[in-house]
Amino acid sequence: LRERESARTRKLTEPKASRTRSNAEDIQTLRKVSRHEYLKKREEKKLQELRDGIEDEQYLFDGVKLSEAEYHDLRHKKAIYDVLSKKKGLEGANNEYKMPEAYDDQRGVNQEKRFSVAMQRYSDPNAEKEEVWEEHQIRKATLKFGSKDKRQVCDDYQFVFEDQIDFIKAAVMDGDKFDYEEELALEKSKAKSSVLEALHEERKKLPIYPFRDEFLKAVHDHQVLVIVGETGSGKTTQIPQYLHEAGYTKNGRMIACTQPRRVAAMSVAARVSQEMGVKLGHEVGYSIRFEDCTSEKTVLKYMTDGMLLREFLAQPELESYSVVMVDEAHERTLSTDILFGLVKDVARARPDLKLLISSATLDAEKFSNYFDCAPIFKIPGRRYPVEIHFTKAPEADYLDAAIVTTLQIHATQPPGDILVFLTGQEEIETTEEILKQRMRGLGTKIAELIICPIYANLPTELQAKIFEPTPEGARKVILATNIAETSLTIDGIKYVIDPGFSKMKCYNPRTGMESLLVTPISKASAMQRAGRSGRTGPGKCFRLYTAYSFQNDLDDNTPPEIQRTNLANVVLTLKCLGIEDLINFEFMDPPPIDAIKKALELLYALSALNVGGKLTKVGRRMAEFPLDPMLSKMIVASEKYKCSDEVISIAAMLSVGNSIFYRPKDKQVHADNARMNFHTGNIGDHIAHLKVYNSWKENNYSTQWCYENYIQVRSMKHARDIRDQLAGLLERVEIELTSNSNDFDAIKKSITSGYFPHSARLQKNGTYRMVKHQQTVHIHPSSGLAEILPRCVLYHELVLTSKEYMRQVTEIKPQWLLEIAPHFYDLKD
Ligand code: ADP
Ligand code: MG
Repeated sequence: LRERESARTRKLTEPKASRTRSNAEDIQTLRKVSRHEYLKKREEKKLQELRDGIEDEQYLFDGVKLSEAEYHDLRHKKAIYDVLSKKKGLEGANNEYKMPEAYDDQRGVNQEKRFSVAMQRYSDPNAEKEEVWEEHQIRKATLKFGSKDKRQVCDDYQFVFEDQIDFIKAAVMDGDKFDYEEELALEKSKAKSSVLEALHEERKKLPIYPFRDEFLKAVHDHQVLVIVGETGSGKTTQIPQYLHEAGYTKNGRMIACTQPRRVAAMSVAARVSQEMGVKLGHEVGYSIRFEDCTSEKTVLKYMTDGMLLREFLAQPELESYSVVMVDEAHERTLSTDILFGLVKDVARARPDLKLLISSATLDAEKFSNYFDCAPIFKIPGRRYPVEIHFTKAPEADYLDAAIVTTLQIHATQPPGDILVFLTGQEEIETTEEILKQRMRGLGTKIAELIICPIYANLPTELQAKIFEPTPEGARKVILATNIAETSLTIDGIKYVIDPGFSKMKCYNPRTGMESLLVTPISKASAMQRAGRSGRTGPGKCFRLYTAYSFQNDLDDNTPPEIQRTNLANVVLTLKCLGIEDLINFEFMDPPPIDAIKKALELLYALSALNVGGKLTKVGRRMAEFPLDPMLSKMIVASEKYKCSDEVISIAAMLSVGNSIFYRPKDKQVHADNARMNFHTGNIGDHIAHLKVYNSWKENNYSTQWCYENYIQVRSMKHARDIRDQLAGLLERVEIELTSNSNDFDAIKKSITSGYFPHSARLQKNGTYRMVKHQQTVHIHPSSGLAEILPRCVLYHELVLTSKEYMRQVTEIKPQWLLEIAPHFYDLKD
């Protein structure tokens, strides 16, 4: 068995080098592997538990002590299950969508049912020999442990012989007591004579509304207030309006409301401008990186926390604001954490400034303590009960499981929209495509399913779609990233599908390497996600992991970003604000000292700081750009190589993310060919990006050209916009816009000036090793150099899936490293 297991592992982790595979397939494979690795880690953990168990001569399995024989039998059973479930995954035979009944207290009954299914298969003469044997073994094991006292052990690994996913109803998250009949009647009785009036009525129904006056009094009486309320209670949309109505904007000052996410800032501003009956960008506006939608008139300004942080550079006391509301404080993003320290300081200096810290979770005490025991204002929630379902067995491929579950719900459950939590844009796009395909396959047998994706880079005009009411008879499924956990409130969600993962930035302070990693979410996140289904009526949450996994594999809380990220950017900002003593900055949770040291080291290597840790002219120029220090250094360095024109185009394209090219399922070969056209000459991904941009420009920024070349026109427009702003910033830091389009070496040297820490050298075995700290990395299959394997490369970012992948790769000459960063790469490297 062990052999089999390791063979399977080998198979799963074998490098997928072939470039002919589709992107979507690659992603799928990677996900599978990463999920697999996650399961493997879990297995290791269990083994550790087992070893601990051996000490007192007991065998532990899922926390239950067993005899030696029992233990081996269970392990055996589990291994077989894995093999079986893998087989099913490969066949992809998930075409039955039945919703299993909830397995609460009738375990026995269902146990029997499953047995009869197993028995049937066992006696099926057509079943393969091996399968029969496996099932026989399983049956033996299950029978043996199916007795009452061991039922708990057995439940975690019950076997499913249908292709659908079986869930176990585990618990009901209680709702709050209030009369929802009355609520409904109220709703019906409202005559909605105009949109604005209807919106007014809606505003009055929000949980915060009855507390309006009480809230305004609290703000009047206290300088700092911590606000806690369930998602959807009206904090983000209502509080700034209440303050505006109460006269806090009369003195010509604004109310700022920060959001950790761009999409949230935009969409909430849009909503509030609607509620106030004004044009977006007039009285109500938003400000996010590279996009300022405000005007002279603006009094309510929704902005990302990062933008407010940048405003400190221009106005250290935030003079233009009368109220600062740090919203979604529980998210604890890096910028929010730094803002805490800064606004706390400003509040001391400016008694007239009101400070509101609002959060969707109950850890408000911590915020209150940090802000010198500020009073906590609680908005009583309005939650309906939510049924929680877990899978009976671990799912090998959560994407597939999410799709099957969506269809199961759609086919069998009463009306109500579905919210699926996925980890990122690519995953959402893949899921959208597969769902569409499968729905097409089902034809008219099934009601319409409206698929709405939502993620950070989604174009604004498509974002609104998620808020549109679902037409009668249809069902909406929203495929969202973490953004829908608390930042966005979407009405009408009755079902939540939670695969249990999110993409998280992880940073290794030892190596200074940062990568995006799909990691299990925390218990707190899982609860938030479940809660999204019970906002407008009783809901159901389907978790694509086992109850055991929830209890044992998930951490209680997600550690704040400040403790797991690269600090170079904030250190640079703080230095610009004149905050020199970073060790004694008032952090709510201080970052690891190593991370601060690494940030200082990097900024020094980039020549942003001098030996004494003081900001240099280069550093000051870099700080003008709302970009990561390495990217801004690349731009500042382009002055020297006389290619700023090209470098800002590259920077703009890199800032758009990985959404330049697209690959329609039916035209993958064409798309790949079009794409490889830009890569001729093995120029590397950075310069290929430049070529794309310049060709588009030569074709008068034509949309048609984009279609012909399988390029996303929206991404290109966004890049153009960013580029224009970068050009403006160049002027501000007095760098001339010079073009040197034929000298690729000059361009590459500018890139190297910023990205020299990201260089890697080819090994004999075809992998790469980081020049600085010996870590093994690989070229991402999407790179134009994936099959070329140059001797020495640098990369833009690292993505960790099954391996550490370098994304956006360019070949460089090793001697440039010594020429450009002699202090970073001394001779012994
Ligand atoms: P909170 O900040 O407390 O989570 P919000 O103020 O964001 O709550 O949401 C209050 C209500 O406003 C939601 O229930 C939803 O109905 C509505 N709402 C919020 N944002 C939008 C939007 N962009 N489009 C439509 N409705 C929205
Ligand atoms: Mg909110």
